[in-house]
Amino acid sequence: MPETFFPEKFADISETKPSHTSVPHIDPAFCATTRAYGALGENGPIAQMSIERRALLPDDVAIDILYCGVCHSDIHMVRGEWGEQRYPMVPGHEFVGRVTAVGQAVTRFSPGDYAGVGCMVDSCCTCANCEAGLEQYCTAGATLTYASPDPRGDAQTQGGYSERIVVRERFVVKVPDGADLATTAPLLCSGVTTFSPMQHWRLGSGQGFAVIGLGGLGHMALKLAVHRGAEATVFTTSEDKVQDAYDMGAKDVVVWHPEASNPIPLADELAKQFDFMLSTIPFPFDLAPFLPMVRQDGAFVNVGAPGIIGGVTGAGLWDQRRSLVGSCIGGMPETQDLVDYCCANAIRPQIELIRPDQITDAYLRVENKQVRYRFVIDLASNRAG
Ligand SMILES: [Zn+2]
Ligand SMILES: [Zn+2]
Repeated sequence: MPETFFPEKFADISETKPSHTSVPHIDPAFCATTRAYGALGENGPIAQMSIERRALLPDDVAIDILYCGVCHSDIHMVRGEWGEQRYPMVPGHEFVGRVTAVGQAVTRFSPGDYAGVGCMVDSCCTCANCEAGLEQYCTAGATLTYASPDPRGDAQTQGGYSERIVVRERFVVKVPDGADLATTAPLLCSGVTTFSPMQHWRLGSGQGFAVIGLGGLGHMALKLAVHRGAEATVFTTSEDKVQDAYDMGAKDVVVWHPEASNPIPLADELAKQFDFMLSTIPFPFDLAPFLPMVRQDGAFVNVGAPGIIGGVTGAGLWDQRRSLVGSCIGGMPETQDLVDYCCANAIRPQIELIRPDQITDAYLRVENKQVRYRFVIDLASNRAG
């Protein structure tokens, strides 16, 4: 357990003294102990605890977090389903807040600005990918917002289920004035993760688009695709999401049954219909029934499952010169573009706002496919004065 973390249930941190006082140009209050909500183990609830945030470096931004989305990957990480983890773990990689302090070298932010942070908080910043604004593909490996070794601190990173954070300026995006903050938070992961492949594979007006899975990512993908003028089809396992999908602009909705011998009714009628298929399903499933639906030179893009995916044949890829590809979040310039684009065009996720003490229950509702469509934690609701 990193010694900088002091988990304690229901801690009152209002009188905690700041622990870093050696940086003269920074108000030490910005580097203090911070109230957070995290897991002490893979089976535990999300409990209140105290964590330490590092002192500001010259290119760091300190943020009071106001809203943080609950991503399905938070749950997989907490449960240890994507590899062994260290605890305590404070999840949260899509959040917005108000800048409270900046280091001497910071140029884009001032105290009082609204800012957002997504899935990564650092990278080498010098490799070819970083120089191209593709920090998520940093050849040295990007530092994830939580559960990564922190190259700027002596512990692992801890995420946005907390009241304050310190982040390198390059990894902070500006949130436009007047933006609705609660619905901006999910853009930082679910928005950019689905936007980036649409940009790369140039999903355009009139093209056939399909999204598999109508959850946090999937419903953002649907809204983004519809806004681009694509003809959108939704594949969902939830009968009770069908009307929502139509309401969000889907032209067609197919209820599929992953475990059934015939998982997709009338699959033959969908052959070669889609230029771009996007899977947001977070677990392995058989791609074979879907691949024939990809049109000539089209792409099937996985942004959901990190584990083994398959069931496709080489011949299935030869046919129509199909691509089976993946995409990982988005680089920092693209993340800024996405936030600006969604704010300018009123493309917003559908959210359910919760208090920090509801996170554990929210996880169960996500796992039971009951969330419509993204939980967002109101961190200001429990903030100490
Ligand atoms: Zn996420
Ligand atoms: Zn790099």
